[in-house]
Amino acid sequence: MTTPRSWFDPANDSPFGVHNLPYGVFTAGDRPGRRRIGVRVGDFVLDAGAAARAAGEPSALLDADSLNPLLAAGRPVWTEVRAALTRWLTEESHRDALAPLLLPLAEVELHLPFEVADYVDFYASEHHATNLGRILRPGSEPLTPNWKHVPIGYHGRSGTVVVSGTPVVRPHGQRKAPTDAVPSFGPTRRLDIEAEVGFVVGAPSTMGEPVALDRFREHVFGVCLVNDWSARDIQGWEYVPLGPFLGKSFATSVSPWIVPLDALEHARIAPPARDVEPLPYLDDRGGEPWGLDLALEVRLNGHPVSHPPFASMYWTAAQQLAHMTANGASLRTGDLFASGTISGPEPETRGALIELTWNGENPLKLPDGTTRAFLENDDEVVITATAPGPGGTVVGFGEVTGRIVP
Ligand code: MN
Repeated sequence: MTTPRSWFDPANDSPFGVHNLPYGVFTAGDRPGRRRIGVRVGDFVLDAGAAARAAGEPSALLDADSLNPLLAAGRPVWTEVRAALTRWLTEESHRDALAPLLLPLAEVELHLPFEVADYVDFYASEHHATNLGRILRPGSEPLTPNWKHVPIGYHGRSGTVVVSGTPVVRPHGQRKAPTDAVPSFGPTRRLDIEAEVGFVVGAPSTMGEPVALDRFREHVFGVCLVNDWSARDIQGWEYVPLGPFLGKSFATSVSPWIVPLDALEHARIAPPARDVEPLPYLDDRGGEPWGLDLALEVRLNGHPVSHPPFASMYWTAAQQLAHMTANGASLRTGDLFASGTISGPEPETRGALIELTWNGENPLKLPDGTTRAFLENDDEVVITATAPGPGGTVVGFGEVTGRIVP
C-alpha cells in the first residue's frame, strides 16, 4: 500500500503526517474551557468533531470531551474513523472546509486524553531487571527465578496519572538507608524517572474470559509515552514483600498524544529470542509478533542522557495483556498498562537514573558543570520517541515532560 499524500503536508516528511494521526484532547481560546478531541497533523491540531461536521459525516464519537467513547467503540469503528480522517486530510475536496479547523499546536492546551481506568506497570526489560538485581541484591542471581516465566507487574494508582507538563511535587515518605537504624520521614532524596511505553485499552472484556495473545489488536487502541516517577528511597524500604506502593503512586506522567496501533504496522518486529520456553498462553511463536521498534530519548534539563530501545523488551504488550487477563480479570475502557523501564544492553541506553548512575555511585555530568545522582528541584525531564512508518516516514510520539517542584 502506498502512503496517501495529505494536502497539509505534501512533502510527507512530518512525523505527524497522515500516516500517524494520533488522538488527543485540547482546549483553545476560541472556545475557552471546552475540551475537544484533536488529531495532530504536522504542528497543528485538527478539531476532529468540527471536521466531522464540516465533512457531513457522523461526529458523535469525535465530538466528545474525552477519547473514552471512541475507545469503547472497538476495533471496527477505530478503523472507520481513521479511514475517514485520512480521507478528509488527503482529498482536495475537503481542504477548504477543514483548513480553518487546524489550530496551531502552540495555541492549544493539551489535557489527559482519556479517563484512566486501571493502571498496571510491568517490568519487561531484561537489561533493566538485571541491572536492578545487581544494584539491589548484589551477590545473588540478578533475575528472580520467576522473571522469564511470568511478566512481572504491579497495580499502580490510576488517579495520579497526569498529562505531560504537569509539575511533579517531590513526595514525602519513609526513607531508610541500609546504614540507618530506623526510618525517618521527609522528602525523597532519590527521585528518579522510568522511561516507558504505555498501552491504552479501548474495548472492554468480560470477567472470567482471558484475552488471548491473538486478541491484542481487538482490545488495544493505541500507544503513548510514560514516565513512571519513582522515589527510590521510599520504594527500597517499602517494597518487600508486596512490591511498589507510595514510592510510585505520587505521580505517573503520560504523553498527550495516543498513537493508534494502526500507525505502528511498520514498527512491528520480532521480539528478542527467549531462552526459556514460555507457557502456552504466552507463547507468541507462530503468531503475530508484537515487538515494536520504538526509539526513545531521555533529556534532563535539555541534555540527552539516554536512548532506550523499545525493540529490546523481553515481553511484548500482547503477552502482558494475555497475562493480565489469564486469571479472568476483565479489561475496562481506559485501562493503561505500561511496559516497565526500557533499558538496552549499553550503558547509554538505560531508562532510569538508578541504572545510569549505578545507584548514585557514578553521577551524570551535565553540560552546565553540575552533576546528578538523582533529580533535584526544578529539574525537567523530557522523554520523546519515534518509530518507522510506511514508505520511509517517521511516526512521532511527541513528548512526556515533567518538572520537579519542592
Ligand atoms: Mn515503572
